[in-house]
Amino acid sequence: MTLHLPTLNFLSIAVLALSAGVMTLFGRTGRVYRGFWWWATAQWLLALGLLLHALRDEEPSLLPLANLLILQWPIVVLTGMRRFYARHTWRVPALVDWLLLTLAFGAWLAASAAQGSVATCVTAFAVGAFALNLYGAVLLMRLADFRHSSALKALALTEWAAAVVQAFRILQVQAPSPGRLAGDAVPVASALVVVVSALVMVYFGLLLTCERTESNLRVTRRKLRFLANMDTLTRVPNRRHFHELAGRALQSIEAARAAVMMFDIDHFKQINDLLGHAVGDEALRQVGRCTRDTLREVDVAGRLGGDEFAVLLPGTSVSDAMAVAARIVGKLEHRQVAPRIAPLSLSFGVVQMFPDETMAEALHRADQALYEAKRQGRSCAVAATGDEEQPVFGESRRLGLAAG
Ligand code: GH3
Ligand code: MG
Repeated sequence: MTLHLPTLNFLSIAVLALSAGVMTLFGRTGRVYRGFWWWATAQWLLALGLLLHALRDEEPSLLPLANLLILQWPIVVLTGMRRFYARHTWRVPALVDWLLLTLAFGAWLAASAAQGSVATCVTAFAVGAFALNLYGAVLLMRLADFRHSSALKALALTEWAAAVVQAFRILQVQAPSPGRLAGDAVPVASALVVVVSALVMVYFGLLLTCERTESNLRVTRRKLRFLANMDTLTRVPNRRHFHELAGRALQSIEAARAAVMMFDIDHFKQINDLLGHAVGDEALRQVGRCTRDTLREVDVAGRLGGDEFAVLLPGTSVSDAMAVAARIVGKLEHRQVAPRIAPLSLSFGVVQMFPDETMAEALHRADQALYEAKRQGRSCAVAATGDEEQPVFGESRRLGLAAG
């Protein structure tokens, strides 16, 4: 079967224009990111360049513009990449891209202006195209995402293939006598590379856009989950999430070996009233931080509301839970909520969970112990035994400065 080269060329231009059309349609109807329009533009310009190139015999004055439009492709695609991956630090500045394009086109212009032979002009063009494609491929391969992105790999491979075709073109025109490289091999390979690049660009543009949308969605989902589960002020779980986490933890541990604590800032209203809500918020933030810093991975903390917090301590006795309370208060004493005010003080209610007791029941008993701690003068931890109906309060433990 013999290939009719002009037909093949027009076919490859048609595929290229089609790919540019698909990209444009997608860009106008779908959500695209910075850089996408550079890729679509590179496709349109290349299609136009090849078309003008095909018409050079009828209109030789079209040749400079045609060559410029063909040479631009790796650089305009790269410019799109620089927009798309703006977060990445590109070690080579964008100016170098355009400088290389100018050099490549300038070399061809100089060769044709000097009335060099066809071989010289073709060589000048092919060397420029070879360098630009190679440069584009190497820069793509140095991207951090290159290893994980099949789209980037496909594009880099296309640029390598384009560079190889140009290398063969140089060998062909420079060969002293027509050898194995003579004939239609190079033009056919060139047309095939154009078709492949057209398809790769569509695949690449759409895939990168989808990858970016998916990763944005993942980030948004993570943010939403955080907002739904966490108290953003204190960065501990909110009431609902605390119950969820505690319920999950209680499925895998023995409830009877877990302690539950409830605690609350003493005279917090006064802090708000005297120093303002911003200072009150800072106080809550500090309590959240000291609690997080004190607890183990397995412990579950939560802000139940207002200035009230709860903690589930798996595998912990009441006396160990009292020590945890003392550690939280000890940390808090080293932090200042506002200049010239005394450190915050906290009151704690502590219980050992009963076998088969629910979290809500244990919290209710801890709340009774907390109430007793407030009644005993605050800044202390009180343990409760007995059931909800008849709580028995153990000895209270003074905390922080009050303990000294
Ligand atoms: P007690 O020693 O008995 O605990 O007295 P208290 O003044 O701390 O009283 P209580 O615990 O009832 O006070 C809770 C206050 O917390 C009431 C409310 O104005 C304040 N509060 C609730 N949520 C926030 C918040 O997000 N920021 C600030 N700054 N204040 C809050
Ligand atoms: Mg309080």
